[in-house]
Amino acid sequence: MAFRPDYTIEPCMAVRQDIEFAETALQYHNDDPSNEVKYELIKAITSNYMFYGSGNYGHVNFTARAKQENSEEQLFFAELNLRGDFTTLTCFRCLKEKEDQIGGLKDTNREGSGVDKEHCYLCEDALKHPRDGASYHAGHSMGR
Ligand SMILES: [Zn+2]
Repeated sequence: MAFRPDYTIEPCMAVRQDIEFAETALQYHNDDPSNEVKYELIKAITSNYMFYGSGNYGHVNFTARAKQENSEEQLFFAELNLRGDFTTLTCFRCLKEKEDQIGGLKDTNREGSGVDKEHCYLCEDALKHPRDGASYHAGHSMGR
């Protein structure tokens, strides 16, 4: 039997997580009657699963378009609080402007263990977060 190193499994696991997080976020958004504009997924881009505080969270970027005529593809950020079967959508943001696309600061050397409300320290730079850091819960410090 051929040797199959573990890393061959990783990429498809990650892609599956991207899609799952993106679809879950859109479903929660669309199911909420107070949200007038519903969106459909175009492409899941990247996601990150993290432990923060006493919870498990997911951060995800995806592109979607509003379910109406002439709508354009837009980049989104969403945060999910994952508690087994009980998931809540804690942030859902369209990152329209370049200035509203703040990369994660994972692996950034940072003094102390204070809380930085403006940034996420648990995602890589490729995962873009809203400029308004208060709009999502997880990732504001390196520790738990
Ligand atoms: Zn993050």
